[in-house]
Amino acid sequence: MNIISQLPKSVANQIAAGEVIHRPSSIIKELIENSIDAKSKNIKVIIKDAGKQSITVIDDGIGMTKKDSIKCINRHSTSKLSKAEDLFKVKTMGFRGEALASIAAVSEIIIKTKTDSDKVGNQLSIKDSKIIEQKEISFQRGTSINAKNLFYNIPARRNFLKSNNLETKYIIDEFLRCAIAHPEIAFILINEKAEIYNLKNSNLKKRIISVFKKSYENNLIECEEKYGAISIKGYIGKPENSKKTRGEQFIYVNDRFIKSAYLNHAIINSYEGMIEEKKFPFYILFITINTDLVDINIHPTKTEIKFEDEKLIYNLVKSSVKKSLEKFNISPSIDFDADINFTKNINFKIQSSENKKAQETYSNKKKDWEKIFENVKVENSDKLLFENTSSIENENKPVQFLENFIFKQVGEKLLIFNHKYCQQRILFEKFKNSNIKAFTNTQQSLFPQYLEFNHSDFKILQEIIDDIKSIGFNIDFFGKNSVVVNGIPSGLDDINEKEIIEGFIEEIKNNSDIKSENRDLVIKSFSKKAKIINNKVLTQLEMNLIIDRLFACKNSKYSPDGKQNYIELGIDKVENLF
Ligand code: ADP
Ligand code: MG
Repeated sequence: MNIISQLPKSVANQIAAGEVIHRPSSIIKELIENSIDAKSKNIKVIIKDAGKQSITVIDDGIGMTKKDSIKCINRHSTSKLSKAEDLFKVKTMGFRGEALASIAAVSEIIIKTKTDSDKVGNQLSIKDSKIIEQKEISFQRGTSINAKNLFYNIPARRNFLKSNNLETKYIIDEFLRCAIAHPEIAFILINEKAEIYNLKNSNLKKRIISVFKKSYENNLIECEEKYGAISIKGYIGKPENSKKTRGEQFIYVNDRFIKSAYLNHAIINSYEGMIEEKKFPFYILFITINTDLVDINIHPTKTEIKFEDEKLIYNLVKSSVKKSLEKFNISPSIDFDADINFTKNINFKIQSSENKKAQETYSNKKKDWEKIFENVKVENSDKLLFENTSSIENENKPVQFLENFIFKQVGEKLLIFNHKYCQQRILFEKFKNSNIKAFTNTQQSLFPQYLEFNHSDFKILQEIIDDIKSIGFNIDFFGKNSVVVNGIPSGLDDINEKEIIEGFIEEIKNNSDIKSENRDLVIKSFSKKAKIINNKVLTQLEMNLIIDRLFACKNSKYSPDGKQNYIELGIDKVENLF
């Protein structure tokens, strides 16, 4: 007996539709993308009952002729792709000719459309993938597509949908993904007669601010990188504004929203040491790449993507985010911002004899500390900035508060430093940037310290011993599960060898799942335990030194653990306290 038969077209359509249309938000995405491809300037989305009852997308794009509107619901009918080679050159959002066919298979749709060259518009009513009514209508240029009763013919699917709140959230997500990628288009979203978003056409920055909050204006760091035919552009959020939820992260490739754990990792990696654990930075990045170097044809819903050279993209994203963060950190917002007079003033003051004297004594005394910073190659240190801070300090004396805090006026702002975090950052960068491979900066101990560990800790120690040596420890294995410490990095106050080496092991254990280099972890741990100055009461000189050194750091804003090293209070904030 023959048992194979062809599936009825309607069933085949429903199965295929399942690939593209999972829920109301999938319809939103496909319809908005069609409107974008149709060169619309205004797109309006109206939903009812979280899109389950009705979704309408109205645009003012090129519209469809009567013939095209009849064809558009057939599977694999598209105006965007005709040859196989075109697949690799796709510039439009759609290209498979599947969306309208799929929507027509799982809902009842009404299409109204008109082109510039047609005198009247055309309206089609479609049910079960068939046109059940067609008529001429008076209509403005553009297209309106209304999809009703989603999954009316597949009750199992309909029951599978989530609560209205959740489905509405998914819709808003898709809506915003499109709206962010196309700030040049005005978007409106109406939910049950209430206008949720009304986004005027603008530029990316303004779009971000109108989608998120006004406060984002001060949260954005520009990001830009170019490498041959690949470019990366967009905005990343300041580390201190990271959130506990992952929501506000967007990566686009050729204006197409994509999900990529790999690229997300590249970005998060660049923030390492600047944000607290389990917090997520904001980012919106657009990668533009020659269509030959990317395959977007992997999945029908097209949020996954394959790059020809994934590693290259990873590194580019990482370096562009890193660079932007560094730029932001190096030119701190201590009102060096824009005030040119301020800089001039400083240069003038350096010349004054009184100041010269202060500078001299300052630098003489400073010598004791210098050995800590020998061999330090402070990459990127902005010399002017460094000089500026020294000279301002001679004028505005810092004040210590409750041991750990230093208050200092800089320009018109009050800066409050967390002494502990500042020291950690300074030490972290000193050791990270130095290329000491041997004991060049070691101070021999009077009494060698013998330390014993349990087997598993000793195993870790074996792995990191060279990293420990590289920061100036004179340490060697000594019998089973033991080491001897003959020397420690010089210039530091009050080091407890045992505590510090245990700290290294602890840091490695705690970070075994993230891909940080062991040396970085050793340095991070060391910078948290060691101290440059350990006395409780700081002299003016010591405070100035700390501030000076901090601003010579590549990343002066955050401690290695991502805590803020200092906060700034402008006049307005201080006045508001009263
Ligand atoms: P695709 O977008 O992959 O081409 P769709 O099924 O989404 O496939 O759309 C089929 C075709 O219908 C499109 O190629 C386009 O020619 C036409 N079309 C769909 N929506 C619109 C619209 N809003 N304005 C103009 N033409 C449209
Ligand atoms: Mg489409």
